[in-house]
Amino acid sequence: MLKNIIPNKKLGQNFLINKYTINTLLEILSISKDDYVVEIGPGQGALTEHIIKKTKNYIGIEKDKILCEYLIEKFKNNIDIRNEDILKTNFNSLHKKNFNIIGNIPYNISTKILMRCMEQRSKISKIYLMMQKEFVERVIANNNNKSYGRLSIIMQLYFETQKYIDIHPSDFYPEPKIYSSFMSLIPKEKILINEFEAEDFLNFVKKIFHTRRKKIKNCLSIKNEDLYGNINKRAEELSIPEIIKLYRDINNDGKLI
Ligand code: SAH
Repeated sequence: MLKNIIPNKKLGQNFLINKYTINTLLEILSISKDDYVVEIGPGQGALTEHIIKKTKNYIGIEKDKILCEYLIEKFKNNIDIRNEDILKTNFNSLHKKNFNIIGNIPYNISTKILMRCMEQRSKISKIYLMMQKEFVERVIANNNNKSYGRLSIIMQLYFETQKYIDIHPSDFYPEPKIYSSFMSLIPKEKILINEFEAEDFLNFVKKIFHTRRKKIKNCLSIKNEDLYGNINKRAEELSIPEIIKLYRDINNDGKLI
């Protein structure tokens, strides 16, 4: 551990310090020499030092200049560390081949990082992220679960999601006030929503989840509402295919009138 680096709160710096947890994460990652890896926020290199022993195809994106200099010195220049903001990185500028994204990321920009990954998913093989436990619950939640909402729907439309383990605050320095979870997201080949309707569909999702306790029909202003099955339910009760069906039923009828 670096004694003379004061963790920067604004950059969400909570460094992993429990070596048993680090080993568990590495087992989950099971990196082989043919894997291409991009690490978001390598920090002081807790995961990095193990990853680069397994594959040479490594790029680290770290926003903190001091940490970049530290990592380059630590790994004797033998590492591709870029002083960039991941929210501005064009994934095409990284490996030519598709790659795995790995990161114990700053929790305050989790949504933005996931959205960026979604937009640039054609370059991604698999994503492994450590994020706040409640946030991970929202990403993986199914209908009839209190964490189910827009985030679950957007991410599950485009990715297979899986949670592996919860991680105790004392595994980090400085110790955060919250638990974390480690999860993966794999881009889906078959996406239930067409590209041309995606934006409109996501607006629909926003509307029907706007007031969670309301029935769907009270979130929308549409005619002939009794024609539609499920419209008397709350959005949180419907699975993703059911929401897509309702969206299409309403939309298609609108076009027929
Ligand atoms: N992976 C390390 C550090 C985790 S802390 C470990 O597990 O110990 C999160 C890291 O993300 C910090 O190093 C922080 O400087 C970096 N970071 C914060 N915002 C970033 C951004 N927008 N782009 C890239 N890295 C960022």
